[in-house]
Amino acid sequence: MSNQADMIIVGAGLSGLLTAWRCLDVNPDMTVTIIDAAEKIAGDHTWSFNLSDVPTHLHDWINPFIAYQWPRYDVKFPNRKRRLEIPYCTGNSDTLRACVQPFIDNGRLQVKLHRKVEALSEQSVTLKDGGVLRAKCVLDARGFVPNDNVFLGYQKFVGHVIKTPTPHGLKYPVIMDATVEQIGGYRFVYCLPYTETEMLVEDTYYTDGAELSEDMIDRRIADYIKNNLGLETYKVIRREQGVLPITLAVDADKRYPPRNVARQQPIHIGVGGGYYHAVTGYSLPEAVKTAELMSRLIKDAGTDFHQAVMDEMYLHAQDHYEEENFLRLLNRMLFRAARPHERYKVLQRFYGLSEGLIERFYRNRITKKDKLRILAGKPPVAIHKALYNFSEKAFIIRARKRRESEKGL
Ligand SMILES: Cc1cc2nc3c(=O)[nH]c(=O)nc-3n(C[C@H](O)[C@H](O)[C@H](O)COP(=O)(O)OP(=O)(O)OC[C@H]3O[C@@H](n4cnc5c(N)ncnc54)[C@H](O)[C@@H]3O)c2cc1C
Repeated sequence: MSNQADMIIVGAGLSGLLTAWRCLDVNPDMTVTIIDAAEKIAGDHTWSFNLSDVPTHLHDWINPFIAYQWPRYDVKFPNRKRRLEIPYCTGNSDTLRACVQPFIDNGRLQVKLHRKVEALSEQSVTLKDGGVLRAKCVLDARGFVPNDNVFLGYQKFVGHVIKTPTPHGLKYPVIMDATVEQIGGYRFVYCLPYTETEMLVEDTYYTDGAELSEDMIDRRIADYIKNNLGLETYKVIRREQGVLPITLAVDADKRYPPRNVARQQPIHIGVGGGYYHAVTGYSLPEAVKTAELMSRLIKDAGTDFHQAVMDEMYLHAQDHYEEENFLRLLNRMLFRAARPHERYKVLQRFYGLSEGLIERFYRNRITKKDKLRILAGKPPVAIHKALYNFSEKAFIIRARKRRESEKGL
């Protein structure tokens, strides 16, 4: 086997590893090198998703990644409580590592750790120590980087995994408990009962700024565990926090360079490529989509897959941008038109819609009819603000002006 792999992936996180795994699975002669600055692949994370986010033909494939699965989940709002019969799943770093381990063992996936990548081009990678690696194709999967051409709100959260001495009594996930006090925007608590005595409790806020007052949220989680879950005795065995991008607008002309310029660049995948759900900030469904697409492109093109992959992934980025037009509009309504203490009403109404629509929404496959259903009825937003924020182009012009005046330009 040659030392030079067919494909180099920079970033051994969720998207990098899912893509490596799927491409190696579908293409038995292929080799991949994956590079990460960290000390281990996959980090220390959990990733949740609706099973329906993953196309049915990939359920067997994704199965070993799933650490926990529940047949249904609940949502709670001041005026709506509902149980959805949508299977919910969580994978984690351990299961992701286990999925790619057979390929590491047979030498088709070469892992290079503690290597910070300084520069990437479409077919080469330059490491911080000056070393250069080449392949037919390079994927940039380095995770989220702020971009001047993308305008964001934020989903911020702190989560505690708790261990209780006796069963905590929660059987199914509560994906949103928005009966809690609404503070600074849309707030909800998310509970995942991993086992009878272990549960993740996460306090989440949809707000305009990225700042996170961790101590205060830690205290609110403790209050929720005591007052809402009725648990007095427990230990916090793991803590996580996150600030996820929620996209309000994208200046597509600048964000997506013309084809001749894009050709010189590596292909971006994962959240760094903008492949996350604009409303939730979650990227697993898009990462699976990309992994499957990459694997099929390589299979169809054969050993000389470079050009086919470059061309199709360019179009894939455009498609994703177009697919999310409506989601970005919804975000502008939620963040800019809805009154902060009433933002929960948008979600309360949404969760009254059909399960099929809810599944399609999270999978980012809503139809025109779904869009009409989502927008129908009296919205809990100020109409003049809704109209003001409707046009993405005008929103971007105003946002740029605001940025410039904040910088004193
Ligand atoms: C706490 C938290 C919880 C989340 N929960 C969910 C969830 O439940 N479901 C969901 O779908 N999404 C979730 N997300 C959102 C998103 O799916 C994750 O952030 C996901 O890990 C993004 O995948 P990625 O591959 O794009 O980037 P990452 O998984 O962040 O991987 C990027 C990798 O690139 C490496 N890297 C970066 N720079 C360099 C460099 N210069 N050289 C070499 N290596 C480099 C990093 O070390 C890292 O390993 C969550 C995010 C957070 C922060």
